[in-house]
Amino acid sequence: MAPLNALIVTIAFVFGAIIGSFLNVLILRIPADKSLLNDSTCSNCGNKLGAFENVPIISWIFLRGKCRNCKAKISAQYPLVELFSALAFGFTTWILVVPVEDTAGADWTLLIAIDYLISVSIVLFVIDVREKLLPDSVVFPSYFVAGAFLIASKLIAGDPAGILWIIIGAAISFSFYLLLALVSGSIGGGDIKLAGVLGMYLGFFGLGHVILGTIGAFILGGIFALGLVLFKGAKRKSEVPFGPWMLLSTFLTLLFGRQIIAWYIALIGL
Ligand SMILES: [Zn+2]
Repeated sequence: MAPLNALIVTIAFVFGAIIGSFLNVLILRIPADKSLLNDSTCSNCGNKLGAFENVPIISWIFLRGKCRNCKAKISAQYPLVELFSALAFGFTTWILVVPVEDTAGADWTLLIAIDYLISVSIVLFVIDVREKLLPDSVVFPSYFVAGAFLIASKLIAGDPAGILWIIIGAAISFSFYLLLALVSGSIGGGDIKLAGVLGMYLGFFGLGHVILGTIGAFILGGIFALGLVLFKGAKRKSEVPFGPWMLLSTFLTLLFGRQIIAWYIALIGL
């Protein structure tokens, strides 16, 4: 990697860690309906965190996962979210910007759109697993933010017709989940609303991605549910949040969709 590219990826990594630390605040405060603007405090003793204790990842390691004041354990969720966010920002910058000879020609709007999706996904993933909830306050703004950057990316690429696919992707995905909710009743309203956002991203890359990303969530969720029944003796009806599978399937499709679709087309001999 050229020195300039290595620097860009490193900056993206550090920026991702800082964003991750903000995502931790959102994860903690959105379900509790708390203000996002207060200073960070220890959830056990209420001690205000100093500047050093707000440094992502590193402060948790130095404090060995304990509050400096009361020695209460600090959840590993904090450094994990920060580390995952940092790695994801670094990785997306590496695959979207660095391959371009001249970074001025890189698709920065697509990078912002994808990193926005990563941020939203981390928040929704943790909140859904912990509270079985996909808050509207996270999902609704995503239609506008993601929509704006995805559309801008198509316009910059000189492909205004591609905007139609963003809208079609959202419409297909949203209606599919809506239909499923009406038929089976096992899909929640939060899942339907999230499906529209994910459909925009999948549609951006084409119809094949919309189909694969949508089916993939059911395959991943199904395998997991089967595993629970087989290995943990879970009841068939035990409640499993579906949002994480929708998010995971979308990211796997964005990463490997082209290869999977090509492999499938070869398999059925089209
Ligand atoms: Zn404390």
